[in-house]
Amino acid sequence: MNELQPLTFPGIDSRKPLIIAGPCSAETRQQMLDTAHGLADAGIHIFRAGIWKPRTHPGGFEGVGEIGLQWLSDVKEATSMYTATEVATRNHVELALSAGVDILWIGARTSANPFAMQEIADAVAEAHRTDITVLVKNPVSPDIELWIGAIQRLYNAGIRRIGAILRGFSEYGMHIYRNTPRWKIAVELRLRYPALPILCDPSHIGGRRDLIAPLSQQAMDMGFNGLIIESHCNPDCALSDAAQQVTPENLAAILKNLKPRDSAGITTDSSEPLASLRRSIDEIDSQLVEALAKRMEVSREIGRYKKLHGIPVVQATRYNDVIRSRIDIGEQLGMDAAFLRTVLLAIHDESVRQQMEIIASSDT
Ligand code: PEP
Ligand code: MN
Repeated sequence: MNELQPLTFPGIDSRKPLIIAGPCSAETRQQMLDTAHGLADAGIHIFRAGIWKPRTHPGGFEGVGEIGLQWLSDVKEATSMYTATEVATRNHVELALSAGVDILWIGARTSANPFAMQEIADAVAEAHRTDITVLVKNPVSPDIELWIGAIQRLYNAGIRRIGAILRGFSEYGMHIYRNTPRWKIAVELRLRYPALPILCDPSHIGGRRDLIAPLSQQAMDMGFNGLIIESHCNPDCALSDAAQQVTPENLAAILKNLKPRDSAGITTDSSEPLASLRRSIDEIDSQLVEALAKRMEVSREIGRYKKLHGIPVVQATRYNDVIRSRIDIGEQLGMDAAFLRTVLLAIHDESVRQQMEIIASSDT
């Protein structure tokens, strides 16, 4: 893929990170225009809005459909912003291209499907629009080959303005992030295709407003080329992804505090190895905290069972077995037995406290 082109746009300073912002979903013409005016005032040049929404469950808000294309044109006319929307089928591509949308993006559920990717690539080529910009979100599962394969299908169809978007990966169970970032996968993509621009989507990674600023800064520190952030004129009333959308004013404040790196690409300065090791520590610590939270949830479940059956909270034999077996595993991994004992006892104490709380409570 050595003919990939940089994502430059007339009127947008290409030395700065590329920023795309707008609502998760187009809802009404007024919501689109209000949000777009706020974003234009905040210095944003590219407006995003989903009009066909891939919902996990049927019955969710599935987007306004084709009428949203008219609203995107209205936004372009009112603000001179470039426009971007998500496409998942041949029909979406044809409609979006004829409506003058500037950037197409492929969602995480679609980039995981080679049939859909081929159909989209063919539709762009057959419309003679290989000049269009296409951004490809990572597939929902952490499979870098599937992500690259999706990008290659577009490239093979003749599209050269392609970008990747890291939006995080699905996991089972409770997590700090809505979708685990797995930054390493983006780093590997950068190393394999240095000319491929990579954006970060902190909204879908974090799933929460307060995580957008730190995730955006982390993306800048790692040399990402830009950000795609969900912004809504009235986030709490959004029909999709309400918890992760910010007002245009909040977005302006987040961007103002952002410290971009001077050079694009993963930097090679001497502080980078340290920064990279610290990111690994941050990620492992998040996993530790998540694992502890899961363990406590199971403990509480056990507490409810013991309460129901009148079983005492602590049984000495089980307790000794638990501590001993974990220390054995830890020692095999080269860890210190005394340290392991301290940590395990602290965890066990907390489990007991949680179970006592359940037993003392009036509900079952
Ligand atoms: C979106 O951008 O609103 C969206 C549906 O994203 P993803 O495909 O990353 O879930
Ligand atoms: Mn969304």
